[in-house]
Amino acid sequence: MEIVFLGTGGGRINLIKQARGTGGFRINSPFANIHVDPGPGALIHSIRNRQDPLSLDCIIVTHNHVDHVSDAMALIEGMTHYGLKKKGIVIGSRHTLMGDETADKGISDYHQKKAEIVYVPEIGEKKTFRTGHGEFVFEGIGMKHEEPSAFGFKIYIGGKVIGHISDTDYFESLGTGFAGCDLLIVNCIKPEADKYGGHLWTQEVAAVLKAAKPKTCAITHMGMKMLKLGPAKEAEKIEKESGIRTIAARDGMRLNV
Ligand SMILES: [Zn+2]
Repeated sequence: MEIVFLGTGGGRINLIKQARGTGGFRINSPFANIHVDPGPGALIHSIRNRQDPLSLDCIIVTHNHVDHVSDAMALIEGMTHYGLKKKGIVIGSRHTLMGDETADKGISDYHQKKAEIVYVPEIGEKKTFRTGHGEFVFEGIGMKHEEPSAFGFKIYIGGKVIGHISDTDYFESLGTGFAGCDLLIVNCIKPEADKYGGHLWTQEVAAVLKAAKPKTCAITHMGMKMLKLGPAKEAEKIEKESGIRTIAARDGMRLNV
């Protein structure tokens, strides 16, 4: 199994400057190909990194913010073979798929109808999904973010567990919820605390890892301060503090699990 990072930038300034891409990442396994959080550039970075949207089985959108959802509809058209074939699974937060109080949705009804299965995670529920070539189990885990239906997840696939902590504030049980991961991919947006909530920073990621104890951690979704200081240095700090092998993801990086 392989993880391909199609954008490792995060935060509102990086979103517009595109110092790092914002295409999310892809999980490629013999059992399912899954694209997570296809923000701006997800389609073009998929093509440039030879990640065929036609071979997708599932698209996951952890919350209805532009840097996580903007290319989802284009990728659905890829997954469903130019929109001509009812196919694939879309997993998205309630706001992404059903709308918020203003009824705004991240993915249109038109595109949702192209997928075979559309699923809003029940936090804590483990759900099995079958693809044409295997299956995986998805477990949604609650996040604390400005978008109230935001989730993280664990995916059990081919005997491995891939975890993803999306945008969230730190909270006490965050780490234990992600116990048992072979690889934990964590959005680490900043090197230190600031006045903007809703995102983890270096020290908090280390605290999460101490409780979650994954075999490996990859940090991604990094903001401008993080990029200026050097993500590799921050990863080293996290590794030293937590004792968990930590990699700073780069655009186009492939990680074998
Ligand atoms: Zn974000």
